[in-house]
Amino acid sequence: MKINDDMKIIAIGQNYKEHNKELNSRNPQEPVIFMKPDSAILRNNKPFYIPDFSEELHYETEVIIKINRLGKNIAPKFAHRYYSEIGLGVDFTARDLQRKLKEEGHPWEISKAFDSSAVIGNFISVSEIDDIQNIEFHLDINGQTVQKGNTKDMIFPVNELISYASRFFTLKIGDIMFTGTPAGVGKVKTGDRLEGYLSSNKMFDFKIK
Ligand code: ZN
Repeated sequence: MKINDDMKIIAIGQNYKEHNKELNSRNPQEPVIFMKPDSAILRNNKPFYIPDFSEELHYETEVIIKINRLGKNIAPKFAHRYYSEIGLGVDFTARDLQRKLKEEGHPWEISKAFDSSAVIGNFISVSEIDDIQNIEFHLDINGQTVQKGNTKDMIFPVNELISYASRFFTLKIGDIMFTGTPAGVGKVKTGDRLEGYLSSNKMFDFKIK
Protein backbone atom coordinates (compact mmCIF):
# COMPACT_ATOMS: atom_id res chain seq x y z
CA MET A 1 0.00 0.00 0.00
CA LYS A 2 1.32 3.41 -0.95
CA ILE A 3 0.56 6.47 1.12
CA ASN A 4 1.66 9.85 -0.18
CA ASP A 5 3.90 11.90 2.08
CA ASP A 6 1.70 14.93 1.69
CA MET A 7 -1.50 13.23 2.68
CA LYS A 8 -3.83 14.42 5.40
CA ILE A 9 -6.09 12.62 7.83
CA ILE A 10 -9.66 13.77 8.24
CA ALA A 11 -11.26 12.31 11.34
CA ILE A 12 -14.89 12.23 12.41
CA GLY A 13 -16.05 12.52 16.01
CA GLN A 14 -19.34 11.52 17.67
CA ASN A 15 -20.62 9.41 14.76
CA TYR A 16 -22.17 6.57 16.80
CA LYS A 17 -25.05 7.18 19.24
CA GLU A 18 -23.99 4.57 21.80
CA HIS A 19 -20.50 6.05 21.94
CA ASN A 20 -21.91 9.54 22.43
CA LYS A 21 -23.90 8.18 25.37
CA GLU A 22 -20.85 6.68 27.02
CA LEU A 23 -19.00 10.02 26.77
CA ASN A 24 -22.06 12.15 27.63
CA SER A 25 -21.83 13.88 24.23
CA ARG A 26 -24.87 15.04 22.28
CA ASN A 27 -25.59 13.58 18.85
CA PRO A 28 -24.38 16.18 16.35
CA GLN A 29 -26.62 17.82 13.71
CA GLU A 30 -23.72 17.84 11.25
CA PRO A 31 -20.54 15.74 11.15
CA VAL A 32 -17.88 16.70 13.71
CA ILE A 33 -14.51 16.98 11.95
CA PHE A 34 -10.95 17.23 13.18
CA MET A 35 -7.62 16.67 11.47
CA LYS A 36 -4.46 14.75 12.17
CA PRO A 37 -1.10 15.57 10.54
CA ASP A 38 1.00 12.99 8.68
CA SER A 39 3.30 12.80 11.73
CA ALA A 40 0.41 11.07 13.54
CA ILE A 41 0.59 7.98 11.31
CA LEU A 42 1.62 4.67 12.85
CA ARG A 43 1.82 1.78 10.39
CA ASN A 44 3.16 -1.70 9.72
CA ASN A 45 2.13 -2.96 13.18
CA LYS A 46 4.81 -0.90 14.88
CA PRO A 47 4.36 -0.58 18.66
CA PHE A 48 2.56 2.39 20.16
CA TYR A 49 4.37 4.16 22.99
CA ILE A 50 2.09 5.74 25.59
CA PRO A 51 3.00 9.45 25.67
CA ASP A 52 4.03 11.04 28.96
CA PHE A 53 1.28 13.70 28.87
CA SER A 54 -1.62 11.31 29.47
CA GLU A 55 -2.72 8.99 32.28
CA GLU A 56 -5.79 7.92 30.33
CA LEU A 57 -4.81 6.87 26.84
CA HIS A 58 -7.85 5.43 25.03
CA TYR A 59 -8.19 3.27 21.93
CA GLU A 60 -10.96 4.13 19.45
CA THR A 61 -11.34 1.48 16.74
CA GLU A 62 -12.55 2.99 13.48
CA VAL A 63 -13.27 2.07 9.89
CA ILE A 64 -11.00 4.08 7.63
CA ILE A 65 -11.38 5.07 4.00
CA LYS A 66 -8.57 5.83 1.54
CA ILE A 67 -9.32 8.58 -0.97
CA ASN A 68 -8.28 7.72 -4.52
CA ARG A 69 -9.36 10.80 -6.51
CA LEU A 70 -8.99 14.54 -6.25
CA GLY A 71 -12.30 16.08 -5.23
CA LYS A 72 -14.03 19.20 -3.93
CA ASN A 73 -17.73 19.77 -3.21
CA ILE A 74 -18.55 16.13 -3.90
CA ALA A 75 -22.26 15.28 -3.93
CA PRO A 76 -23.17 12.32 -1.65
CA LYS A 77 -24.40 10.28 -4.63
CA PHE A 78 -20.97 10.56 -6.30
CA ALA A 79 -18.88 10.09 -3.12
CA HIS A 80 -18.50 6.33 -3.72
CA ARG A 81 -16.32 7.15 -6.74
CA TYR A 82 -13.68 8.69 -4.50
CA TYR A 83 -12.52 5.55 -2.71
CA SER A 84 -11.90 1.94 -3.58
CA GLU A 85 -10.32 0.66 -0.37
CA ILE A 86 -11.57 0.38 3.17
CA GLY A 87 -9.54 -0.42 6.24
CA LEU A 88 -9.38 -0.35 10.00
CA GLY A 89 -7.43 1.95 12.28
CA VAL A 90 -7.16 3.26 15.81
CA ASP A 91 -7.75 6.89 16.74
CA PHE A 92 -5.67 7.05 19.93
CA THR A 93 -6.99 9.71 22.27
CA ALA A 94 -5.55 11.25 25.43
CA ARG A 95 -8.98 11.25 27.11
CA ASP A 96 -7.90 13.15 30.23
CA LEU A 97 -6.43 15.92 28.11
CA GLN A 98 -9.41 15.94 25.75
CA ARG A 99 -11.81 16.32 28.69
CA LYS A 100 -9.87 19.35 29.92
CA LEU A 101 -9.79 20.92 26.44
CA LYS A 102 -13.53 20.36 25.98
CA GLU A 103 -14.29 21.99 29.34
CA GLU A 104 -12.24 24.99 28.32
CA GLY A 105 -13.86 25.13 24.88
CA HIS A 106 -10.52 24.61 23.13
CA PRO A 107 -9.69 22.58 20.00
CA TRP A 108 -8.95 18.87 20.55
CA GLU A 109 -5.79 18.55 18.50
CA ILE A 110 -3.15 17.97 21.17
CA SER A 111 -5.27 15.17 22.66
CA LYS A 112 -6.06 13.55 19.30
CA ALA A 113 -3.42 14.43 16.70
CA PHE A 114 -0.16 13.80 18.54
CA ASP A 115 2.63 11.61 17.13
CA SER A 116 1.57 8.01 16.36
CA SER A 117 -2.08 8.68 17.33
CA ALA A 118 -3.39 7.44 13.95
CA VAL A 119 -2.89 3.71 13.57
CA ILE A 120 -3.49 2.70 9.96
CA GLY A 121 -3.94 -1.02 9.41
CA ASN A 122 -4.45 -2.96 6.21
CA PHE A 123 -6.99 -2.13 3.53
CA ILE A 124 -9.26 -4.36 1.49
CA SER A 125 -10.97 -3.59 -1.77
CA VAL A 126 -14.49 -2.17 -1.50
CA SER A 127 -15.42 -4.62 -4.28
CA GLU A 128 -15.01 -7.46 -1.73
CA ILE A 129 -17.78 -5.98 0.40
CA ASP A 130 -21.54 -6.14 -0.27
CA ASP A 131 -22.49 -3.00 1.63
CA ILE A 132 -19.99 -0.70 3.30
CA GLN A 133 -22.80 0.51 5.58
CA ASN A 134 -23.20 -2.96 7.02
CA ILE A 135 -19.77 -4.22 8.04
CA GLU A 136 -18.89 -5.54 11.46
CA PHE A 137 -15.57 -4.69 13.04
CA HIS A 138 -14.00 -5.35 16.41
CA LEU A 139 -10.94 -4.94 18.56
CA ASP A 140 -9.37 -7.62 20.73
CA ILE A 141 -6.98 -6.73 23.53
CA ASN A 142 -4.91 -9.63 24.83
CA GLY A 143 -7.31 -12.02 23.12
CA GLN A 144 -10.55 -10.55 24.56
CA THR A 145 -12.99 -8.58 22.42
CA VAL A 146 -13.27 -5.13 24.01
CA GLN A 147 -14.98 -3.10 21.29
CA LYS A 148 -17.44 -4.10 18.59
CA GLY A 149 -19.19 -2.03 15.99
CA ASN A 150 -21.13 -2.12 12.76
CA THR A 151 -21.04 0.65 10.17
CA LYS A 152 -24.86 0.49 9.95
CA ASP A 153 -24.91 2.37 13.27
CA MET A 154 -23.13 5.45 11.92
CA ILE A 155 -25.12 8.66 12.36
CA PHE A 156 -23.64 10.00 9.09
CA PRO A 157 -22.77 7.30 6.52
CA VAL A 158 -19.43 7.32 4.72
CA ASN A 159 -20.69 9.00 1.55
CA GLU A 160 -22.22 11.86 3.52
CA LEU A 161 -19.00 12.28 5.50
CA ILE A 162 -16.98 12.51 2.29
CA SER A 163 -19.42 14.98 0.78
CA TYR A 164 -19.48 17.16 3.89
CA ALA A 165 -15.70 17.16 4.41
CA SER A 166 -15.10 18.02 0.75
CA ARG A 167 -17.01 21.29 1.15
CA PHE A 168 -14.19 22.52 3.40
CA PHE A 169 -11.13 20.52 2.33
CA THR A 170 -10.04 19.45 -1.13
CA LEU A 171 -9.68 15.69 -0.94
CA LYS A 172 -6.48 14.36 -2.46
CA ILE A 173 -5.28 10.94 -3.53
CA GLY A 174 -3.97 9.11 -0.48
CA ASP A 175 -5.90 11.10 2.11
CA ILE A 176 -7.40 8.96 4.86
CA MET A 177 -10.72 9.40 6.62
CA PHE A 178 -11.36 7.99 10.11
CA THR A 179 -15.13 7.53 10.33
CA GLY A 180 -15.74 7.59 14.10
CA THR A 181 -15.76 5.03 16.88
CA PRO A 182 -18.57 2.89 18.29
CA ALA A 183 -19.17 2.38 22.02
CA GLY A 184 -16.66 0.46 24.09
CA VAL A 185 -13.67 2.78 24.09
CA GLY A 186 -11.21 2.23 26.92
CA LYS A 187 -7.74 2.55 28.30
CA VAL A 188 -4.61 0.83 27.03
CA LYS A 189 -1.64 -0.12 29.18
CA THR A 190 1.92 -1.16 28.59
CA GLY A 191 2.16 -4.74 27.34
CA ASP A 192 -1.30 -4.86 25.74
CA ARG A 193 -1.65 -6.53 22.35
CA LEU A 194 -4.23 -4.95 20.03
CA GLU A 195 -5.73 -6.95 17.16
CA GLY A 196 -8.32 -5.39 14.86
CA TYR A 197 -10.76 -7.16 12.56
CA LEU A 198 -12.96 -5.92 9.74
CA SER A 199 -15.50 -8.70 9.19
CA SER A 200 -13.24 -11.73 9.42
CA ASN A 201 -10.16 -9.99 8.04
CA LYS A 202 -7.36 -9.25 10.48
CA MET A 203 -6.34 -5.65 9.80
CA PHE A 204 -3.72 -4.87 12.44
CA ASP A 205 -1.83 -6.54 15.29
CA PHE A 206 0.51 -4.45 17.42
CA LYS A 207 1.65 -3.86 21.00
CA ILE A 208 1.52 -1.04 23.50
CA LYS A 209 4.86 -0.06 25.02
ZN1 ZN B 1 -12.30 8.78 17.03
